[in-house]
Amino acid sequence: MAGGGRLRGVIALDGPSGTGKSTVARQLARRLKAAYLDTGAMYRAVTLAVLRAGVDPGAVQAVAVAVAAATLAGTDPGHPTISLDGEDVSAEVRGRPVTAAVSAVAALPAVRTVLVAEQRRLIAAALDGGPGGIVVEGRDVGTVVVPDAGLKVFLTASDRTRAARRGAQDRRPGQDVDLEATLADVQRRDALDSGRVTSPLRAAPDAVTVDTTELDVAGVLAELTRLARVRGLVDPAGEDG
Ligand code: C5P
Repeated sequence: MAGGGRLRGVIALDGPSGTGKSTVARQLARRLKAAYLDTGAMYRAVTLAVLRAGVDPGAVQAVAVAVAAATLAGTDPGHPTISLDGEDVSAEVRGRPVTAAVSAVAALPAVRTVLVAEQRRLIAAALDGGPGGIVVEGRDVGTVVVPDAGLKVFLTASDRTRAARRGAQDRRPGQDVDLEATLADVQRRDALDSGRVTSPLRAAPDAVTVDTTELDVAGVLAELTRLARVRGLVDPAGEDG
């Protein structure tokens, strides 16, 4: 299949945990010579800041102070990193303590206000003066962060498939992943993310839903590239760029 072209504008990729969002978003961004933003990593990094500050994730004021002190970055799909006050915390934010606390922190409106503003700033920088296109993944990208995105995709997959993928992603050398526990964790986070009052996990009315249960990464990538082309978001002049 033809490799490329250059993305112009924003592709918003939302969906629950374990649908393959991160892998697909990163590869799509590379294929279309675009920037990439993992908004979940930002929620994870501020959660790490909260835990390091010894703040109870339920203490709204204290959490807001810890979040305001965090600085985050990283939109290169070839080297996606997340940093907190200049320290690369990409590995640590995938650990159990952060995964257990992140949905509670992400449910706080004060946290979302700060991070959505930062996400919009990073997206604007990628569009003007950056590569001109960006793939953004999360839970509320199509509904809240970039409601006018040129293409909004909502990825889904069966619960078991999602647990298996999340387990593979979180696996550390020498550590076994308990699939039932991972499934329970994925379902717990989905319930929190879908049930919260502010920016719940939800498909935008104009999002295209892609069920990835039976698709491999190449299949999902092919479908998303096709959708982006149909929407006129891929500039063929960028083919060799
Ligand atoms: O995508 P990932 O699983 O790393 O996201 C971690 C958590 O961050 C999610 O479970 C959700 O609570 C929160 N999140 C969010 N809004 C986003 C992205 C992630 O609330 N746009």
